[in-house]
Amino acid sequence: MGKISKQTDKHIKYYKCEVCLKNIPIEYYFTVGDSITCTDCNAEYVLQSKNPLELTRQAVDYSKLDFDEPY
Ligand SMILES: [Zn+2]
Repeated sequence: MGKISKQTDKHIKYYKCEVCLKNIPIEYYFTVGDSITCTDCNAEYVLQSKNPLELTRQAVDYSKLDFDEPY
């Protein structure tokens, strides 16, 4: 009997964060349109395509973060 190696992360792809260059695991259950946040620097990405893996970075829209103006 050979050694059984559990490659549970076999289908996980990684996307290199543009900000901190850490590899962000793209889990299989992510679908196109999902937002993915870098676990290291909290940069936000939106999954554009899974094959090939394509993400676009969500630029933080500071105009929407106007704390002086309540909704
Ligand atoms: Zn990052």
